[in-house]
Amino acid sequence: MQIIKTIKEMQALSRGFKAKGKTIGFVPTMGALHEGHLSLVRQTKAENDIVVVSIFVNPTQFGPKEDFNKYPRDVEGDLSKLSPIGVDAVFIPGASEIYPNGFSASINIGSIGDILCGASRHGHFNGVATVVAKLFNIVMPDRAYFGQKDFQQTVVIKKLVMELNFDIDVIVCPTVREPDGLAMSSRNSYLNEAERKAAGILYKALKHGEGLILNNVKDASRVKSEIEALIKTEPLAEIEYAEIIDAATLEKIDDIKSIAAISLAVRIGTTRLIDNLVVVLSI
Ligand code: AMP
Repeated sequence: MQIIKTIKEMQALSRGFKAKGKTIGFVPTMGALHEGHLSLVRQTKAENDIVVVSIFVNPTQFGPKEDFNKYPRDVEGDLSKLSPIGVDAVFIPGASEIYPNGFSASINIGSIGDILCGASRHGHFNGVATVVAKLFNIVMPDRAYFGQKDFQQTVVIKKLVMELNFDIDVIVCPTVREPDGLAMSSRNSYLNEAERKAAGILYKALKHGEGLILNNVKDASRVKSEIEALIKTEPLAEIEYAEIIDAATLEKIDDIKSIAAISLAVRIGTTRLIDNLVVVLSI
């Protein structure tokens, strides 16, 4: 497994793989890897000749009052998890490699980045789009793998790829969960014991909403209010948003038709957690 720190070396390596006719699968991450990340890496390994993983805690996707400084970092641990899967290269650039002095370019992904998580995290999705575009130009993958856990991010990346004509397939992988249903996340490490227990309410609420929809409740406002009421039974939880949305456009919907997503952002203590379920009604 090669550890690559510079853009030049990464591009040269990828060019070499491509010259040999190899397909490259890519998993961008911010490190502190858990089973959720590793499931993406395993799927990438199964579907491509070459697997490249990046580890970069991207400063431009964090707001000034967010957790950039305390975000968990464990590169040694990450490498020991990636190596047994048969990853070919891990790209770990420093911040000044990606954003040298004077760097000023930015991708504006548009209004899709201003709703849901973007409503409280101003500029977050532009930061994501910009770094992912750079990583795509550096790694030059055939396929890139993202988790459904970050549902809005997957929609943003698909839009980025389509509108800027990246010749890359975006593949969305299922959310990996803890036994109580809590979606795995690097930020779960912020939770103390009581908060960790309380965090189970997100999945309970999602499953309750899914149950209503599958039982033919078409009124999104009823599903939303039942979900909110359930989350409010947990004293440590504070809802940022709970929405029933169109899974393609992320717009709020009134009537639930064939496919909808339930999307949540909830603070447990000071930790902000997100989760979602896509519900498909058979016709
Ligand atoms: P992050 O390191 O949080 O930026 O995540 C890197 C990638 O892993 C993103 O595409 C995430 O959506 C994905 N990911 C994070 N947690 C999970 C999970 N529990 N299940 C599946 N994918 C995940």
